[in-house]
Amino acid sequence: MSAPSAGNLIVISGPSGAGKTTLLKRLYAECPGLKASVSATTRSPRPGERDGVDYHFLSPEEFERKRQAGEFLESCEVFGRGAWYGTLESEVAPSLAAGKSIVLEIDVQGAMSVLERYPDALTIFVHPGSLDELRRRLSQRGTDSQEAIERRMEVARRELDAADRYRYQVLNDDVARAVREICEIVGSPKV
Ligand code: 5GP
Repeated sequence: MSAPSAGNLIVISGPSGAGKTTLLKRLYAECPGLKASVSATTRSPRPGERDGVDYHFLSPEEFERKRQAGEFLESCEVFGRGAWYGTLESEVAPSLAAGKSIVLEIDVQGAMSVLERYPDALTIFVHPGSLDELRRRLSQRGTDSQEAIERRMEVARRELDAADRYRYQVLNDDVARAVREICEIVGSPKV
């Protein structure tokens, strides 16, 4: 008997505010067999976010302890100051070993680290449309201060420059189409 086929490791990045959250929600609802990896972070929960569901919310000390213990597949300080984000190996390895596909929604830096460990990962970059559109979405969301928005815009500009390091690029100007596209990509056989 042949061994069970391994699941796909799918890495999705795109500027914060690119509509990724909505897109991913629909992706999980419409594209069967996908599981979301729950990242760890030191940032505070936003209203409505739940520990262990949206993120594992950790104190900086706990995050650092896990980092030192080698529990992260990748981790980095995403906005240059304060908040750390990381993917726990325990979110990823068991799924892959069980032949299940798992989705990591992480930033560019994290995606590149994941590729070092899992070169076959399916990397997908989600484009927000335009930077103006991105600024509009971030302002509309109402969760970030003006300063935070400017910082996110700066990160977005840098991230857009990295888009061609991804295997696939998807334009999120129409959510339904973008979901279909990603669903086709993740359903495609491994190369
Ligand atoms: P937010 O604070 O808006 O939830 O996420 C901010 C950014 O952190 C997003 O661009 C997201 O891709 C990134 N991020 C979330 N989880 C991780 C992670 O585990 N690792 C890395 N490298 N980035 C992450």
